Amino acid sequence: MTAKENITAISVDADILEVAIIGAGFSGLGMGIRLKASGMTDFRIFDKGHDVGGTWRDNTYPGCGCDVKSALYSYSFEPWAEWSNAYAKQGEIHQYIRHCAEKYEMYPHLQFNTTVAAAQYDQESGVWEIKTAAGESIKARNVVAAPGPFADAQVPAFKGIDSFKGKIVHTARWDHNIDLAGKRVGLIGTGATGVQVGPAIVDTVKHLTVFQRTANWIMPRLDRDITEEEKARYRKSPSSMKLARLGQYWFNELTAPFLILKYDVFKSQPEKLCRSYLKHKVKDEALREQLTPTFKFGCKRVLVSSDWYPTMQRDDVSLVCDGIERITEKGIVTADGVEHELDVIILATGYEVRKVGAPMPIVGRNKLELNEVWKDGAEAYQGIATADFPNLYFLVGPFTGPGHTSVIAYSEAQIDYVRQAITFRRERGLKSISVKPEVERAFVKTMDARSEHTVWKSGCDSWYLSPNGRNNTLYPGFNAEYRMRIARFNPGNYELMNFANKTVRASIADQLSTSVAALKSV
Ligand code: NAP
Repeated sequence: MTAKENITAISVDADILEVAIIGAGFSGLGMGIRLKASGMTDFRIFDKGHDVGGTWRDNTYPGCGCDVKSALYSYSFEPWAEWSNAYAKQGEIHQYIRHCAEKYEMYPHLQFNTTVAAAQYDQESGVWEIKTAAGESIKARNVVAAPGPFADAQVPAFKGIDSFKGKIVHTARWDHNIDLAGKRVGLIGTGATGVQVGPAIVDTVKHLTVFQRTANWIMPRLDRDITEEEKARYRKSPSSMKLARLGQYWFNELTAPFLILKYDVFKSQPEKLCRSYLKHKVKDEALREQLTPTFKFGCKRVLVSSDWYPTMQRDDVSLVCDGIERITEKGIVTADGVEHELDVIILATGYEVRKVGAPMPIVGRNKLELNEVWKDGAEAYQGIATADFPNLYFLVGPFTGPGHTSVIAYSEAQIDYVRQAITFRRERGLKSISVKPEVERAFVKTMDARSEHTVWKSGCDSWYLSPNGRNNTLYPGFNAEYRMRIARFNPGNYELMNFANKTVRASIADQLSTSVAALKSV
């Protein structure tokens, strides 16, 4: 059978999707959009929710927004003139994602309310079988997993949590029926979420008690409204929006060494700036002391807020830095024995970001379980592919979270790489492609070595690190460098297997053609 006949044989099998995409957030949806743009229509996107948007669909807490500027926190191929602010709020981001789904005709490809429960690779046929929680079975040649790092809320196991007679709500699953007006509200957590929700509710509540375990570095949020004139200009000239995006992109790239590296030369200036901002905003010395971080700048996510410090100084706000001992019927008891009486407790305690184990049961070649392979930490070549799991790709996988810029800058580059890989397999009529173990190991070694220079490992505790203190979450480098690294899908780094179960080598023509494909996509 020739390669061409082979392709036909694959594509006429109506029961087998070419691509199954898991997750309809920015990454999964972007994957669908780019596949369609390249002429592929044989794919479906599965999402456990009722709508597109992922984390921007699920997080609807008061004040929810993005601390990356809107022009950069959007697809490069779909600049949007309608942003109201330099930093967009959740509702608008969600609206933007829905706009993209509509415009790029993604809805016929979307299957909502579908939780992918497991995926298993059949070595004989080279086909993945996906099982949904509802018992449906779907077959696909390729699987792209884009479940997102913030899908699951983290609820700490506070002693007595079930005894509380008031309401408890996690920010990631906001209950809009809770009325905060005139209530005594406790806010646990002062990370990126906590500093958004506190100022947004303080005018409504009777009293806000903030339970802070760790003070964070905070930079002012230089937000502003985008005027109608600017919007009109942007509508007329999408290239001016692209220019604004480019400016923000390179500005963020310049900040990378300050946010990523551990060396004092990159710490002293930003720490000084944040301290003087704190001093300027908070006059009370004792409060300032409590709000001063004790770890290096960038070790945890640097927060961007202009209303957190003003909020903390209000008479109707108290900052509690004693550890939480337990939750009672009436409120929260701290380590100093004080019981803080509350009507509502808000948990801004973050997400269960998975750094070990698979996002769901995934069985690859030779019945290998990804959960087992990743039991000490998730690893993948370029954060995208892992050996023994052919035709399976991750978006924003291990090592490729953003340390200093928009996550979309990573996922878009990955989408393009995965699209090249999928197209290559299909065009060559191959049964499977899987990354060579030695290639993956070399990449992981580089990531581990680089991570030693990062501030993330300088001693603080954050969701970036796995239980053994390793960074396999964020990319230890510039985004531009990562983009160059993965601009071209290189078949030479993969084991290529045809339908006769023969391993084939990537030819020089293959290498050349993928170079041309990569150039075309720039
Ligand atoms: P987070 O950064 O993990 O912060 C969780 C907060 O809860 C921390 O202050 C933490 O204290 C506290 N906490 C957790 N367990 C606790 C316990 N048992 N007792 C007391 N305090 C406890 O979570 P997040 O604020 O939701 O942010 C997570 C990530 O989501 C961010 O890093 C960011 O990537 C993303 N995010 C982005 C935006 C945006 O604007 N783009 C907005 C929100 C979130 P410790 O610091 O002491 O652990």
